[in-house]
Amino acid sequence: MIQRIRGTADILPGAIPRWRKIEETAREFFQRYGFREIRTPIFERTELFARTVGEETDIVAKEMYTFKDRSGESLSLRPESTASVVRAYIENKLWVDAPLTRLFYAGPQFRYERPQKGRLRQFHQIGAEVLGQSDDPMIEAEVIEMLSSFLDALGITTRVLLVNSIGCPDCRPRYLAGLRAALEPSIGAMCEDCRRRFEINTLRVLDCKVESDQAVIASLPAMVDYLCGACAEHFEAFRRHLDTAAIPYRLEKRLVRGLDYYRRTAFEIVSDDLGAQNTLVGGGRYDGLAELLGGPPTKGFGFALGVERMLLMLPEGAAEEASDGPEVYLAYIGPAARERAIALSRRLRRAGWSAALDFEERKLKKSLAMADKLKARRVLIIGDEEISAGAYILRDMKSGDQQTIEDADLVRRLEEISIHSGRRWS
Ligand SMILES: [Zn+2]
Ligand SMILES: [Zn+2]
Repeated sequence: MIQRIRGTADILPGAIPRWRKIEETAREFFQRYGFREIRTPIFERTELFARTVGEETDIVAKEMYTFKDRSGESLSLRPESTASVVRAYIENKLWVDAPLTRLFYAGPQFRYERPQKGRLRQFHQIGAEVLGQSDDPMIEAEVIEMLSSFLDALGITTRVLLVNSIGCPDCRPRYLAGLRAALEPSIGAMCEDCRRRFEINTLRVLDCKVESDQAVIASLPAMVDYLCGACAEHFEAFRRHLDTAAIPYRLEKRLVRGLDYYRRTAFEIVSDDLGAQNTLVGGGRYDGLAELLGGPPTKGFGFALGVERMLLMLPEGAAEEASDGPEVYLAYIGPAARERAIALSRRLRRAGWSAALDFEERKLKKSLAMADKLKARRVLIIGDEEISAGAYILRDMKSGDQQTIEDADLVRRLEEISIHSGRRWS
């Protein structure tokens, strides 16, 4: 038997209501803040990620699914979507439309990581990017406000917002020099990742989670103490806007973003409910990324959230109203009733109702069991007697109540009943 690839998952129908709940709530809240959906290809030229994410990052060096296509070109499955969105922004000249472009996306990403709990090789992200000429810190604050109301709406409340500034090309070199000097005496005794990062991307030493390195890391200087005037002012204004919006946060001086192109504001939303992989949302500012891709000078700010982790935090029962069971299941007894049931299902569907029936003849008891299994809201019972009387029996599967409904009145009566008791399970 051929099995699915390690690190991938089949998302079965029973799980779909919870996925939809997250996706649809994101669409609703992001649109409230003026974001429009974009869908980019799941594969791109490898060079796109090498140039933006950074050749030296773990993502590009070790985790990308890279392959040559039949023409010999090197392509990669996207390991994240910001690079693709910025490429599309430039290639389609979206900057012409408006001074600020707000885009969001939802879809699969691919990284060849060691499979472990909560880590898949095909995983799903929802993210948003604000691209344009302005780097007003209100952009950051507004996006975080949007995220807060989105997470509140899903009932994901046990979370903490962490913020930091990682400076800019003017002030970061001085900090990195200070960081290297502080690390110099102890780096030899630190973990392998730290020693490698020390050489190629010193900032990421701060990311290390190895227990024995934490004492050294806690003693290192912080970027926020090295910010240039403009960066300090930006960070202060951003935090003031958060205060005004009554959004609580914690300054996390060790917070850096994993990708090379970030600068200034960095943030994460974390939750202790998630265990070791506790990041729910990660984001930051990436002014200058568009220029790296040959685009016009563009400021950028965005985030990505992991849908699989959101699912772990979505409260039990949060998606029940999105049950995908049929509104009406048609149970028939006998060949004439079968023909009538098929005609009625057609009538109901045209009127906008979801109707289900089985083409295999069953005893009524078996049909009711089937309706129950399909999570049908109601069952319409049709036998020879009902056909000659011109009326059917409608059974509410939740309460067990039954009533007779005239054939001519079927759709109208269903609408009436549903006003009182809902169209679907709720
Ligand atoms: Zn700066
Ligand atoms: Zn380390």
